[in-house]
Amino acid sequence: MDDHRDAAATDALAKAVEAILPALERFVRFEGPDPARERSRWRPLLDRPLPHAGVGRDATLAELAELVVANGLRIAHPGFSGWVTTGPTDVGAAADLAQAVAVPQRWWVTPGNFVDHLAIRWLIELLGLPESAVGTFTAGGSTANLVGIGAARQHAGERLGLRPALDGIGDMPDPRVYASTETHHVVGRALGVLGMGRRHLRTIPLDRAGTIDLDLLQAALDEDRGAGRTQVAIVGCAGDVNTGRVDPLGDLARIAHERGIWLHVDGAYGGFGLLDERIRERYGDVAAYDSFAIDPHKWLAAPVGTGAVIVRDEGILGRAFTIETGDYDRERHVSAGEEDPGSPFDELGLGTPDWGVDFSTPARGLAVWAILREIGADGMRARVVRHDDCARRVAERARASATLELLAEPVLSICCFRFRPPGWDDEARLDDLNEAILRGIRARGRTVTSSTRVDGRFALRPCFINPRSTFADADALVDEVLAVGSELAARG
Ligand SMILES: *Cc1c(COP(=O)(O)O)cnc(C)c1O
Repeated sequence: MDDHRDAAATDALAKAVEAILPALERFVRFEGPDPARERSRWRPLLDRPLPHAGVGRDATLAELAELVVANGLRIAHPGFSGWVTTGPTDVGAAADLAQAVAVPQRWWVTPGNFVDHLAIRWLIELLGLPESAVGTFTAGGSTANLVGIGAARQHAGERLGLRPALDGIGDMPDPRVYASTETHHVVGRALGVLGMGRRHLRTIPLDRAGTIDLDLLQAALDEDRGAGRTQVAIVGCAGDVNTGRVDPLGDLARIAHERGIWLHVDGAYGGFGLLDERIRERYGDVAAYDSFAIDPHKWLAAPVGTGAVIVRDEGILGRAFTIETGDYDRERHVSAGEEDPGSPFDELGLGTPDWGVDFSTPARGLAVWAILREIGADGMRARVVRHDDCARRVAERARASATLELLAEPVLSICCFRFRPPGWDDEARLDDLNEAILRGIRARGRTVTSSTRVDGRFALRPCFINPRSTFADADALVDEVLAVGSELAARG
């Protein structure tokens, strides 16, 4: 035994991948009952003390295949409509593996660096933002919103002659961010992380259309301006995760810009929804958004860990997220020329570490590039339209059925409805019944969905973003609700 050799194998990657491939292929067929529920079987087999001597490659890969992969979470199952995230499609998964092996950094002169940057350009074009916009990939929508709101904080500070990223926000009086009550909770956390305080997210009630009330927003803005507060950003919601509604983003842009306030749009779920011409108008002029958070690991089905933020003013991200480089990485600033480099390590490549909160990260855009290359803008548009149609299909069936009630008209790909037998009027009893239906259909395993509350009522809430889901799955969900609901209601 050569004791200078590392304990980890590096001589047979193909064999390692082949060792888990059959389990991966079996997993994505989603056959039979969901094995993950048998926690009592897999957990004791995994719950072991730290090994002093490792078990070696083959035994580890066997555990990976038989215990982890085989019992994986089936959110990519065609009948799963519970969340706004899904599992990757084939090319996205393959790109993720390629990225881990061959693009272990997003910078430096490599094809992976190049397509990471290209993928952002493609997203900018796909969503109709101006060519001058810039962007960066992030770990998800949470960080994408953090970066967008960080840029807004910089903008608000600079209007006061301050440099918040350098000096802090001590001289910014009473910062406020405005968003509807439907805004995702990560927006409030971003305020906390950015030192502005979660409490200073001023939430504006909804109007009768279920989106931000513009009159109440204007009144809040007037009040805070009168009180001398720093108005950092208005956050518009392009698809809330409860009902899938889209704030009137054109109006929000007008209101924000009349007052010199930054407009950030959270499109983590519904950003790609603007590809559906039937609802395009709700998004207003995308070129007017100051920052736009989107989440390729949702509707685009990139591997989880792939968010993105796009910002209109190309200078502000650099000022908001400047890092003072260490002596060891000065050479990163050798400028990228057009000629072939002497070595890929002589040049930084495209993109910049100053545009977010990560330093070393994977080239997340590699999977986005691969997916867009595979399906094109047309493939993505067709997916969005099909999923919006799935939600409309559920709504249509709910309207047509004597025992179903539509609770919110779908805008994007979410439909909120409930089971309501004739004569059942007690709200608490209906809530209990529908909660039991949700659990009942999950236990049967044909379809799995989630719930929310609409006007205080417990609602079943399918969200269709899964590339594997079709109308048949939307119909199957309704059939399951009817079957389980009738059985439970008959029992009283
Ligand atoms: C998913 C989501 C987020 C959070 O994004 P992550 O990718 O889960 O970090 C924020 N806002 C909206 C509207 C979302 O749908």
